[in-house]
Amino acid sequence: MITLALSKGRIFEETMPLLRAAGIEVLEDPEKSRKLILTTNQPNVRVLVVRASDVPTYVQYGGADLGITGKDTLIEHGMDWSGTAGGSGLYQPLDLQIAKCRISVAVRADFDYASAVKQGSRLKVATKYVAIAREFFAAKGVHVDLIKLYGSMELAPLVGLSDAIVDLVSTGNTLKANHLIEVEHIMDISSRLVVNQAALKLKQAPIRKIIDAFASAIAP
Ligand code: AMP
Repeated sequence: MITLALSKGRIFEETMPLLRAAGIEVLEDPEKSRKLILTTNQPNVRVLVVRASDVPTYVQYGGADLGITGKDTLIEHGMDWSGTAGGSGLYQPLDLQIAKCRISVAVRADFDYASAVKQGSRLKVATKYVAIAREFFAAKGVHVDLIKLYGSMELAPLVGLSDAIVDLVSTGNTLKANHLIEVEHIMDISSRLVVNQAALKLKQAPIRKIIDAFASAIAP
């Protein structure tokens, strides 16, 4: 049995064409079904529906053989910024070029970010991405107080919880709707395939087949 861990939403939808290229069709829609283990047209391939931030954990500990998740999630899980080293036991063979976005710093339109940074004042930053935010501001020599949130980061500067947020930005519409502006582009993000290293050894042929099919289906 080959087990693939995916999260619902954009990653799930953008992974379907890649799976199809590998001859795999998921037979249930995670938006309609409450099932967490989805069957496919291949009796020996199944899909787990997990939270994006749990994908590296499932793959690292062998609950899934493969998983797909964003570079943001992998860095928060302990991968270095260059993407070479994974968490222990995680092999990262492919950038799938899906669910592309960027991770940025945003502030209220009336907040003078440039002066705050220049004057060396302590910046209050709300984010789900504390590892990325810590490393980014440390490299700039900016002192930050990090406030960990799990969602709706855009609210924090609006109610005075923070001066800035570090969040994923795709179209920029969410920032605009909340009168926030992007002041720093930290890095580009896309989703990556991660593979359990022990599973790759034990089930080499079927896993290699999936990796190769994904590799040839990646959008140029
Ligand atoms: P947008 O309004 O298109 O800039 O999207 C921003 C919102 O969508 C923010 O709340 C982000 O956290 C979320 N978001 C954007 N891109 C992604 C992605 N690739 N994966 C997960 N969440 C995302």
